[in-house]
Order: sequence, then structure tokens, then C-alpha cells
Amino acid sequence: AKHTGRDQFRFYAPKMKDRGRELLALETDLRRALEREEFILHYQPQLDLSTNQITTVEALVRWQHAQRGLVSPGDFIPLLEQTGLIIEVGNWILETACKQAQAWWACGYPLRIAVNCSAHQFQQYLLDTVHQLLQKHSLNPACLELEVTESVVMQDVQYATHILEHLKAMGVTLAIDDFGTGYSSLAYLKRFPIHSLKIDHSFVHELSDDSEDAAIAEAIVLLGHSLDLEVVAEGVESEAQARFFQNHQCHRIQGYWIGRPMPAENLFPLIESRNVK
Ligand code: C2E
Ligand code: CA
Ligand code: CA
Ligand code: CA
Repeated sequence: AKHTGRDQFRFYAPKMKDRGRELLALETDLRRALEREEFILHYQPQLDLSTNQITTVEALVRWQHAQRGLVSPGDFIPLLEQTGLIIEVGNWILETACKQAQAWWACGYPLRIAVNCSAHQFQQYLLDTVHQLLQKHSLNPACLELEVTESVVMQDVQYATHILEHLKAMGVTLAIDDFGTGYSSLAYLKRFPIHSLKIDHSFVHELSDDSEDAAIAEAIVLLGHSLDLEVVAEGVESEAQARFFQNHQCHRIQGYWIGRPMPAENLFPLIESRNVK
């Protein structure tokens, strides 16, 4: 046993030791997961409320673990970020999403694909990666939307503006994810070359019975209208919530009400039945 003081002892307490082992095992697993192609993308549709068409689809990563089953991103994205593995996995996600968008386009559905971009990925190299992927898969840049959170762009405003402007020049669209939950300055919103705001689901869930959440959601939609940004409401689960956003002329809604994240082969029939070719 360790005997260098109480704190040390507590650190090596059995529970912590197990937790440490568990993390190490997970990290080793994650390194192998890429080689073994255990990551998969699910796709969640967004409905354009003015046309009643599915125009955008968000790519959400899952890990198909041999023992653990389908692991959700909340359980391994932080670890990918800590270990730096997010760059490699993030590139795989981007490429897989681009290929999928190209495949839909070839079937006559020019859907835009939204891909989440973590802080580590939001670097100079991202510009080259995106540029190369668009070329390699002959994808119309307008079919790619990158989602970044407020904290990512607010960390270094000048640098973020540089990256965002280059992406925009390529023709890629940009969305601010989880809008309203982070620290952001409204003044920067008009300076950043962004295309859309995603209202965080925390404002959407209790919409019908919480007037404060309704007021916030409505204010974000209005902000979008006046700054000429599209607004997407996420986490829409009920008809009442969908109607609320329809009434307030929100551009797009995403949530279980329209469809859960699902494999591409399950999404395709949904698109075929809903969209005009
Ligand atoms: P996010 O980007 O805010 O994604 C939306 C999350 O809300 C997804 O969880 C989605 O499954 C869930 N969701 C969608 N509609 C509803 C609804 O109607 N009700 C409820 N209760 N939930 C809904 P998921 O797939 O577990 O992803 C969690 C987070 O993990 C994402 O939050 C995102 O931050 C991160 N993530 C997912 N995929 C990726 C990825 O490919 N790259 C990176 N960097 N992060 C990712
Ligand atoms: Ca997102
Ligand atoms: Ca979000
Ligand atoms: Ca979120």
C-alpha cells in the first residue's frame, strides 16, 4: 500500500484504481477501434419548415464495441480529445460523411451533411483536409456544413474568424451548435461568416410549459431573422414543439419528432417518401 499521506492513499483507493484501469483499457480499445473500423455514423434528418423537405442531415458518430455494444459519443469523444485521437477519428468522420453525401447526391438527393467539429479539429490543417476531401469525392462544398460550438469560436476570435472565412471561401457552410448555452458575444455573431444557429435542446424540451424557455427560443429565432442567419431547433420531440417553431418561422427542426439518428440505409426510404426528387 502507498504510505505517502492521506491524499495519496485516497488516490490509490480501490475504486480509483479500477477507474484508472478502465480508462486505460478504453484508450487502448479506442486506438484499435479505428483500425478495426468499429466507428459508424448515424444520420439524423432536419426538416426545412418552409418547404417541408429534409434538406440537411447531421452525422453523429457511434462506436460499435465488441463487448460494450453501441457506445454513445458522450462516452468516448472526451477521451478522443484528451488523447489527441480525435484528429484521426475526426478525419475518418469527415470523409465518411462526404462519401455519404456524394452517394445521396448521385441518387438525386442533394442533401447537405452537417458534421460536428471539436476544438482540437478547429485548426489550420482542417482547411487542407476539407479542401482535399471535397476534391477527392467531387462533393459540392455547399453540401457540407460544419458545426462548432460557441466556446470553440470564442476561444480566439481572430483565429476563428480566419478559419471560418477560409471555409466560407471554399463554399462550406457553418453552424454554431448548442447556441445559447455557452459564452458568446452577440457582436461577434455578425462578424463571423456563419450560416446558421442551432438552438440548444435544453431550451426546446420544456418549451410548452415553460414560458422562459419559449421566450429564449423565440428570441434566438428573431435574432436569426434580423442577422440573416438560418435557425435550427434541435431536440424537437413533439408536435406542439414542432408547431411552435413553425409558428415562429424557424427555418429547420431536428429531433425525434422528425427522426432519430439512424443508419444511412434506414434514412434513405424516409427521404424518398418525404422529398420531391
Ligand atoms: P450534438 O451535436 O448537440 O448532437 C445532438 C444530440 O442530441 C445527439 O446525441 C442526438 O442523438 C440527440 N438528439 C437528437 N434529437 C433528439 C431529441 O429529439 N431528443 C433528445 N433527447 N435527444 C436528441 P448523440 O448522438 O449522443 O451525440 C452527443 C454529442 O456528441 C453531440 O451533441 C456532439 O457534441 C458529440 N458528437 C456526436 N457525433 C460527433 C462527431 O462525429 N464528432 C464530434 N466531434 N462530436 C460528436
Ligand atoms: Ca451537433
Ligand atoms: Ca447541439
Ligand atoms: Ca449538445
